[in-house]
Amino acid sequence: MCTQCRAYEASLRRGPSRRGFLRSLGGAAAALAVVPPAFAKDTKSSPKPQNDIPPDAALDRLMKGNARYVKGGSRRHDFKSEREALVGGQNPFAGILSCADSRIAPEYAFDSGRGDLFVCRVAGNFANDDTIASLEYAVAILNTPLLLVLGHESCGAVSATIKSLKDNTTLPGHLPSLVANIAPAVKATMDQPGDQLLNATKRNVVDNVAKLRSATPILSAAVEQGKLKIVGAIYRLGDGKVEMIA
Ligand SMILES: [Zn+2]
Repeated sequence: MCTQCRAYEASLRRGPSRRGFLRSLGGAAAALAVVPPAFAKDTKSSPKPQNDIPPDAALDRLMKGNARYVKGGSRRHDFKSEREALVGGQNPFAGILSCADSRIAPEYAFDSGRGDLFVCRVAGNFANDDTIASLEYAVAILNTPLLLVLGHESCGAVSATIKSLKDNTTLPGHLPSLVANIAPAVKATMDQPGDQLLNATKRNVVDNVAKLRSATPILSAAVEQGKLKIVGAIYRLGDGKVEMIA
């Protein structure tokens, strides 16, 4: 657990005292507790100065990393020295909302090191309260300038949702929760021509990009202030290329 998370947990254990919470996290906490326009920069935690970049530069860096990955020219990452640099904090240059599918692996797909990407993964890469809260933390506390919703070809979660809706069946265990979150995109593309799975996968990405952009009060304000860009893409399984769609 990181220093900031430990401090946050400690503040929760002490009870809902606002003073205790702010004291434990200092100026960084104010950004999250007060919410916009208080996107104060956390100057204490920039172990990777090269990650303190504006949204467009972050997207460019992400795509250049993917280009290296596609060509098979990924860099060698010196995890030993990075471990030491990241003991005191983190300042990832991008947050990724990705599917949990084992074939995606955002850190590999964007040829990135530790401390570069703040990754939330859930089958079907949808934004719910938990993933939005996690990304709010990245934006408000860690000053992350870019969020990317990353869907992918042949997504099992989207496929299962299509089948469940078509057959009018209820999946076992907790899977209905996934279906409920992905169903709007499936229903919206049900009558579209072409590949139904790909259409629904793309719509799911586009819808969740919109959901993040309008997530008040933190993400929407950061977007309005030009401090945050939120985009969407599809990962191609065959060659590893990430195609921007939103
Ligand atoms: Zn998937």
